[in-house]
Amino acid sequence: MDDEFEFSKLQNDFVYDSVRDLKAVKDPKTLTKSKFLNALQCPKLLWIRCNAPDQIPPTPDSLQRVFDTGHRVGSLAMKRFPGGVHVQEENFMENIQETKSLLSAVDPRPIYEAGIKTGRLYARADILVPSKTNSGAWDVVEVKCGTSVKEIYLQDVAFQRYCYEQAGIKVGRCFLMHINNEYVRHGEIDVEAFFTLEDVTEEIVPFFVQLAVLLKGFFQTIDMPACPNISISEGCTKKSGVRYDCPMKPVCWAFLPAFNVLELTRGKKKGFDLVDQGILRLVDIPDGFKLTDNQMIQRLCTISNQAHVDQPEISGFLQAISYPLRHMDFETIFEAIPRFDGTRPYQQVPFQFSVHLEETPGATPKHFEFLHKSSDDPRPAFVKALKACLGSDGTILAWNKSFEEGRIKELGEAFPEYSQWAQDVLPRTEDLMIPFSKYHYHHPDQHGSASLKKVLPAFIGKTYAGMAIGEGGLASSEYARVTYDENVNPTDRAKVYADLEAYCGLDTQAMVDILKKLKEIVRS
Ligand code: SF4
Repeated sequence: MDDEFEFSKLQNDFVYDSVRDLKAVKDPKTLTKSKFLNALQCPKLLWIRCNAPDQIPPTPDSLQRVFDTGHRVGSLAMKRFPGGVHVQEENFMENIQETKSLLSAVDPRPIYEAGIKTGRLYARADILVPSKTNSGAWDVVEVKCGTSVKEIYLQDVAFQRYCYEQAGIKVGRCFLMHINNEYVRHGEIDVEAFFTLEDVTEEIVPFFVQLAVLLKGFFQTIDMPACPNISISEGCTKKSGVRYDCPMKPVCWAFLPAFNVLELTRGKKKGFDLVDQGILRLVDIPDGFKLTDNQMIQRLCTISNQAHVDQPEISGFLQAISYPLRHMDFETIFEAIPRFDGTRPYQQVPFQFSVHLEETPGATPKHFEFLHKSSDDPRPAFVKALKACLGSDGTILAWNKSFEEGRIKELGEAFPEYSQWAQDVLPRTEDLMIPFSKYHYHHPDQHGSASLKKVLPAFIGKTYAGMAIGEGGLASSEYARVTYDENVNPTDRAKVYADLEAYCGLDTQAMVDILKKLKEIVRS
């Protein structure tokens, strides 16, 4: 889950930069900041962005919200350096001309979103600030939605510094301004406290000194008559050590067969070693190849097309469950700019739960649900309804329970009147994912995954396919869209709420079904 959050923070930054670059720069062979970052990920991606951008699968509509996040954080950042001039982006040449005149003004002021082009390089500074210590120089401030300094951010700033200096601008200090994840909102956002400003002038030097050579190579790639032949690698799914899928992945990975070696559980590196050896299918992994126990189970299941079942382990898991039994699932929003008092950037704020209650073994489950349908803080009503639903005894099952446990703990901390309740509830939770994550049961159709979205179809035969909302990220973004945007059509809003109820309800119904089948396996 942490990896997932880091991914969404990076996504906020890269989607925002890419869309801005696309709008501003019409010459496809100009190297913009976002293309520079593409180039660091893969020469093939760079070439396609510059020479055949139509080959890149379209950006999903859901990423509009990601772009909006970058835009809102950027607007907030301008308030951190007040009194500046915002160079509007509509016209590329006008932007550059206006930037030039602002840079040479006798009474320099901060410049927001200044576009600078030199040769085939283009960079757009989030904020340029007249240096207080170096006359005639400009400090560069790069704003990021992330919550810490990452190598990819340093490379980004180094590229900007290079562009500005090539354009004859005297650069003073270079700063990264990222979100402070310890900031807690009380009233209006305090921009001083919300952002952390880090001087990275020295840290970017190792990247900066390599740039002339690096950029020469990137331009050679852009000008190649044909796309470079690059093999897929771990770089397709990682940026700066964080999971980040390349937009070309659906195309470049399309040659992989079903049940391929890149599905090996916790085995991406091994999988790529196998691909490099020309071994693509799990069933073709040689007998002597070193695999973990779980990877071996996965391979053997795929070869036999049979499920692996460890009855004693499943039985042991089931014995820990007591009745009345509740199956529980939460949905949350997590936003870069905290919306409610007492919350932090990217805090998971629960707005919906589903609970299926089984009073006794075999009893027909009763369904309870909560969905906060107004734009105020959902947590007080959520925790009140949840407390009423969870009773005082019996096991509470969740899937990947650390997520739900974390939210309950936070609710207990945020609302002291629920502190004792949270302490009482937490020891009652068990994780229904365990029989699958520990490979007590594994079906080849899980493709090495213990996520509910993979287990449900493989184990029960039900799917989330065809649901208007069928995964947590979309649930979160759709909830925020219809709840906080007053202009949303009421019919649209009502439909999204109904879709959310169907989605969250299916998650806990799925757990009811999975538990039932685990019991059948033990009895058989
Ligand atoms: S999917 Fe991989 S090989 Fe294809 S362009 Fe992206 S990084 Fe390069």
